[in-house]
Order: sequence, then structure tokens, then C-alpha cells
Amino acid sequence: MGVEPASIDAVFITHEHSDHCSGLPALLGRNPGLKVYANAETAHRIGYTQKISPIWRKFQTGGAFEYHGLTVTPFPIPHDAADPVGYAFDCPGEAGASARRVTWMTDLGHVTPVAREQAEAADILVLESNYDDEMLDLSKRPAHLKQRIRGRHGHLSNLAALDLLRSIKAERLSHLCLGHLSKECNRTVIVDGLMAEVRSARPDLRVTVFDPLEEAPADLS
Ligand SMILES: [Zn+2]
Ligand SMILES: [Zn+2]
Repeated sequence: MGVEPASIDAVFITHEHSDHCSGLPALLGRNPGLKVYANAETAHRIGYTQKISPIWRKFQTGGAFEYHGLTVTPFPIPHDAADPVGYAFDCPGEAGASARRVTWMTDLGHVTPVAREQAEAADILVLESNYDDEMLDLSKRPAHLKQRIRGRHGHLSNLAALDLLRSIKAERLSHLCLGHLSKECNRTVIVDGLMAEVRSARPDLRVTVFDPLEEAPADLS
């Protein structure tokens, strides 16, 4: 994405699955001083599987902490990992502007009351829209994997993400980013189509769908 590894001060890890941490050894190789935020169980598992011992900054899930003027709140999400989290980052308003909250919420099998509350309180929300039901059905993935993805501790489908968006007030929301699309079982055009309803209900809302087949979405690069 055109960012110098050495210029990154810290990364915030959600859970130990390889699609969320396999880049850490390379990143640490280029930036040994990188701070790595994670809860104890996640840090332990990643340290073991990735064979790394970075400067861990360990936190308790559910407890807020400060990071360079931001208040960071890791919150629990239902996913088949040790202690998976989403993050809310509260950014203080500058020059009279009001404070804003960026919320990161991917890898959740269903929407819990905590997840709903976090989605409702976001100004900028990164939400998982992982798979299209039919594409998952037709995919060559083994039955147990399909079941895992669909399970209560798997991933949010496009329809589940849409359901959540339909059911919350989200009055503060100004930018919705849909991400963690499955390369095999989803397409941005499908997610875009489903989001037409959200767009027409909230014409002022900016909606970005992250394409997993592209290196970076055009309007964020
Ligand atoms: Zn995961
Ligand atoms: Zn994932």
C-alpha cells in the first residue's frame, strides 16, 4: 500500500488466524521496534506459530487503553480463535470538530449484542461481508469447512452484514467499509448490489467495498 514498514509504529492484532498475522515476521524483519498489540492468549499463540518474539503490548479484552491520544477499546467477537477481538478507536476531534470513532469488526460468526452496540456507535465502520451463500454452496470446499464458515463462530455472510445494517440506527455512521470478502466465495459486485438498499436509505453515507483481488481499493490508496 506504499507505506514504509519502518514508519509504522504499532499494529493491532485481532486474532491468531494466519490471514491476520502471517505478515508479522516480515514486518518485524524490516521494523524490529514495531509494537504489537494483542491480548495474552493471542500473543501466546502467534509467538508460537510464527516463531516471533516482538515487543508485545498486551491488553485485556474489554478494557480500554490509550495509544498516542487515541482511546482503543478491544471488544470480544464470536469467532473460532482463542480470544478474538474487534477494535474501536476513539479519535479526539481537532480544531473544534467532534470526536470520531473508527470501529474494526471482521471475523464474527454472528452478531452479538456487543457487536451491535459497537456498530451503532461507529463513525467509520469496517464490517465483514464474507461470503455469498450460493457461491459458498457451489464452491469445492469440503463440507466441514463450509459448516465452519457458516457456524456461530465462523464468518458473517453478505446477508448477515446487510441484516445488521438494516437493524441498527447508525446515526453517526459516515463511512461504511465492507471487507474480509472471501476470494473464492464472494464478489464485490454482489456486495455492491446488496448495499444499494443501504445507499438509498442513506444517500450521504460513503460505502467502500474492499476487493480482495486488488492490492488496495482505489479510493483509499
Ligand atoms: Zn479468523
Ligand atoms: Zn480472517
